[in-house]
Amino acid sequence: MTVKATSKTDVLIVGAGPAGLMLALWLARLGVDARIVDKRTDKVYSGQADGFQIRSLEILDSFGIAQRIWNESNHMVEVCFWNPDETGRICRDSRVVNGKAGLSRFHEVVLHQGRAETFFLDAIRDSYGPQQPTRGEPKAGGQAGKTHGDTSSGPDVGGQQQPRQVSVERRVMPTSLTIDEDAAAEDNRDSYPVTVALRHLSENEATPTQMLSNVQDGLFRSNLSPPDGVDPSSATIPEGIEEVVQCKYVVGCDGAHSWTRKALGPEYEMVGEMTDYIWGVLDIVPITDFPDIRNRTMIHSADNGSMMVIPRENRLVRLYIQLTEVSVGGGRVDRSQIKPDMILSAAKKIMHPYKIDYHYCDWWTAYQIGQRVGKHFSKLNRVFLAGDAVHTHSPKAGQGMNVSMQDTFNLGWKLGLVCKGVAKPSILSTYEFERKPIANQLIAFDHRFSRLFSGRPVKDILDETGVSMGEFGAAFRQSHMQFTTAVGIKYSPNMLVVGGDDEEDKKDDTGSDHKQAPSPAAACVPGMRFASHQVLRHSDARPWQLHHKMQSDGRFRLVVFGGHVSSQRDLQRADELGDWLVSHLLPKLPALAVMPGTTNLHGGGRPGHGFQPEQPPSILDVLLVYHGQENISVGEHLSFHSAYQPFDPKLGHDYDKVFVDRPSHHNGNGDAYNAYGVDQYKGAIVGVRPDGVVGLAVGLDKESWVEVENWLEGILCKAK
Ligand code: FAD
Repeated sequence: MTVKATSKTDVLIVGAGPAGLMLALWLARLGVDARIVDKRTDKVYSGQADGFQIRSLEILDSFGIAQRIWNESNHMVEVCFWNPDETGRICRDSRVVNGKAGLSRFHEVVLHQGRAETFFLDAIRDSYGPQQPTRGEPKAGGQAGKTHGDTSSGPDVGGQQQPRQVSVERRVMPTSLTIDEDAAAEDNRDSYPVTVALRHLSENEATPTQMLSNVQDGLFRSNLSPPDGVDPSSATIPEGIEEVVQCKYVVGCDGAHSWTRKALGPEYEMVGEMTDYIWGVLDIVPITDFPDIRNRTMIHSADNGSMMVIPRENRLVRLYIQLTEVSVGGGRVDRSQIKPDMILSAAKKIMHPYKIDYHYCDWWTAYQIGQRVGKHFSKLNRVFLAGDAVHTHSPKAGQGMNVSMQDTFNLGWKLGLVCKGVAKPSILSTYEFERKPIANQLIAFDHRFSRLFSGRPVKDILDETGVSMGEFGAAFRQSHMQFTTAVGIKYSPNMLVVGGDDEEDKKDDTGSDHKQAPSPAAACVPGMRFASHQVLRHSDARPWQLHHKMQSDGRFRLVVFGGHVSSQRDLQRADELGDWLVSHLLPKLPALAVMPGTTNLHGGGRPGHGFQPEQPPSILDVLLVYHGQENISVGEHLSFHSAYQPFDPKLGHDYDKVFVDRPSHHNGNGDAYNAYGVDQYKGAIVGVRPDGVVGLAVGLDKESWVEVENWLEGILCKAK
């Protein structure tokens, strides 16, 4: 083994699937020194996961990616349920809306994982702004080493040193991981306690072989990695270049057979069931007389099992079938038995008397998936596991990519702000606290649906469970809204989430019942995502989704619902809060430089001009939203307090911080105060985390200001 180099990095990400790329994007947007390695030669080009749920699209929109997905994808607006009639012939039982109208400006869409990976790679590169020469991804592991092997920083932009660019280093896999537990102590900020050896692979070692020569399949058999279920130490690793990297943090985003998880030892193994279900997946351009082929459709046949039809982009349709013939009652099956013809033949039986065939197959796979969750999501808050590396489940609810990306969306800003020295390392423990329950809920949800949507004859399931198909449909719709869209996800109270406990009635210190005061922003629940509604920008009356003013740049946000603009009392109250923010709170908080690619994402045009403000802005961004049906000229923009219209000597006034809730001239009425549950005279302050989750919701009174201060002081380091 040739040891090439020893280097340091703040964060090493293992695996460049959706989870790893989301994390890399966060770290690029925050200007953190990070590396991301993947054992494969290239990104995914077809197949694998394809469903983008509502919350994922909102998240991707905060990075400026969602529109590309929205434009290219197939939109799944309705869902159809087909069941056998009394004669056993399948017929349409119902056709209903897919999800629930009004949850978000987005709804579920489908596009294959590879396109999303492309958009991530573009967004990572764009983070560094147009001044940087556009570099393609390194072609080989050796070249990637050049990007990261030297310790020099990137070029100077706007008077600030740019961090080294994050770019995926392909054909690289780790071979060992050790943690120096003494150096890993939380307050030891400058230590690099995790040492990882990386091996740079040859093209042949990194290229997966395929079952059939003419169609890509998902049965990856890397030439180097051991096959599924084989102890990694028993694999023959050919000679190659090895590099030793010292890291502050390592994140294993390396999929269901995670090397990182195994490297952490047996106490990190996954627990749960390895089901008997084998999923056959076929991406084809169908030739069929089935009338609902362009709708999301669930078909339960009388005797031949069940199937999901997922219409896709480019006339493609994905068929998901639980294959009954190859199930073996526990343990793993030999997936090489399965070929596309076998999956098609199962589809034909389920769809009978309708016909289905194809000339073009884009991708296929057969996989056996357990419903399992890792025992721990992190070791010493220095090594983390995310995505499929720490939870696996069936593809039924289209959650594969979504929960994985949402894991690292949760982790990325925390790691990034800690590495930048602006947040306390103790926030890292909230990653497992917040995401493990979500993984557990996902598995419980998947388990329920496995029974109701198994490959077995529907009459057997009905006999066993007593669940009617009507109940199944209702359960599907309910769960779909609450859980699978992810807009219903709620994190329990912790140092980042103040209040928002489920129980409204609490016992006070004396043990007697005590009803909590109603929230001043009833629809902004701490622990849940802050929803987006339309407001008008005060300076030019242009309607905006409030989310578009809250992009993912690492900043916390105070959304000040200042009350009614025609009320002198309300204006004065907002001014007093402004005085306190400018003279007391903001000077205590750290600044956070803006990466060039994060500016103006939704302002039209390319990511920002890269012209930096004289002073890096505060980590706390303040937005004022007032209510008023009157003409916009009632309040002149420059008469608002400087807390809401910051001035920079180089860039002038920021006209993008004051908004009004009133009908627009061309785009209807967002009715934002109502939608957020805020009284137009009482007002409210909502604190939003960098990941768009509500951290606290309080009134506009002075006691509430202290709550805001305490919340932020518990999380952030002091200004330097
Ligand atoms: P992955 O997307 O698995 O990404 C892991 C990455 O880590 C990969 O790029 C891999 O090359 C890399 N890697 C792995 N080990 C190492 C290592 N030792 N060193 C360096 N890099 C490593 N979901 C659905 O919803 N529907 C489907 O039909 C579907 N089909 C699938 C078919 C296959 C073959 C697979 C593998 C997954 C499928 N999934 C499907 C699941 C879905 O793709 C995942 O849930 C989703 O991609 C999870 O994202 P992730 O980033 O956590 O992991």
